[in-house]
Amino acid sequence: MQILVTGGAGYIASHTALALLERGHVPVLLDNFVNSKPAVLDRIAALAGTRPVLLRGDVRDGAFVEQALREHRIDAVIHFAALKAVGESVAKPLDYYDNNIHGTLALLGAMRRAGVKTLVFSSSATVYSADQPMPLREDGALGAVNPYGRTKLMVENILADVAAADPSVSFTSLRYFNPVGAHPSGTMGEDPRGIPNNLMPFVAQVAVGRLPRLRVFGNDYPTPDGTGMRDYIHVCDLAEGHVAAIDHGHGKAGSHVFNLGTGTGSSVLDVVKAFGQACGKDLPYEVVPRRAGDVAACWADPAYAEKVLGWRATRTMQTMCEDAWRWQSANPNGYPD
Ligand code: NAD
Ligand code: UDP
Repeated sequence: MQILVTGGAGYIASHTALALLERGHVPVLLDNFVNSKPAVLDRIAALAGTRPVLLRGDVRDGAFVEQALREHRIDAVIHFAALKAVGESVAKPLDYYDNNIHGTLALLGAMRRAGVKTLVFSSSATVYSADQPMPLREDGALGAVNPYGRTKLMVENILADVAAADPSVSFTSLRYFNPVGAHPSGTMGEDPRGIPNNLMPFVAQVAVGRLPRLRVFGNDYPTPDGTGMRDYIHVCDLAEGHVAAIDHGHGKAGSHVFNLGTGTGSSVLDVVKAFGQACGKDLPYEVVPRRAGDVAACWADPAYAEKVLGWRATRTMQTMCEDAWRWQSANPNGYPD
């Protein structure tokens, strides 16, 4: 299939583009580089032996997207393009609603005009209501608590409404848990701008000496070691989940939702320990007060994705840390400009 990948130069999308190529699909990447760099294309090309088309442009530009869909005879779309920083979404909600909601509406309009019926959307475990028991199941109660999370929940609802009104479309929302790690080659990985918000890239930058020490946000949670627990999933497992979702969803009308997680929670200190083993040194950290808005623990029930998509995550926390370290140590400043 010819697959338009919006936000195609980003962290998860670039690994997904590679997985699509490995599966025999042809990804066409579209990105405005608000949070990525074109250099990732060289890395994909080196690994895949073929260079995907990359279109520079904004997903909110419906005419541009429609032209891309027609010109490249697109069969399906994977929609990654979004802004994703929770704290920034609180400070700049309009930017988030514009990019993430307006972007999706423009894309859906272009798909309708061009007759493209299959969409896979990057959703998030953040759409689950905070009072849900673990592990989280797809039929659990929903409720986002910040503008970023609300954009994900709104888009899921929009997709369900459109799919209910138009029985010819197939829309799949994938609720990611915590994507981490890098391609095992060490040539592709996460390249956050500025100081990372997320745990694993922060730890990686401590390991490489870019940051002095990790601040552990709270050790008084009701978890075995008191630190927050999350379901970390290797980005290559996640990428393969997208291929499975595209292969499953194409031609199957309706709206579908899947968790993409491992089903296992790891604490902050588990991650620090595993990363320390991967890089061969003890990583300095200090415990500081809890971060506002954090939940104690969050992990997936991945059974539905395994049953329906035939997909499950296989890579361990040790592999996630080793691959992240290989990427970070070989590319301490991320991708070149
Ligand atoms: P990323 O920032 O690396 O990738 C997003 C890409 O979209 C970037 O390359 C950016 O330049 C591009 N983009 C943003 N707005 C655009 C626009 N208007 N037009 C064209 N391109 C645009 O982030 P990521 O971690 O790879 O996340 C990908 C998707 O997965 C996002 O939708 C994100 O919300 C979602 N998600 C991420 C996580 C996570 O922890 N990384 C968790 C759950 C969901
Ligand atoms: N965390 C931390 N220090 C950091 C960043 C994160 O202790 O510098 C903790 C955070 O409190 C949470 C876990 O690491 O318990 C994962 O945080 P992340 O931001 O990566 O993911 P999210 O909270 O969005 O699931």
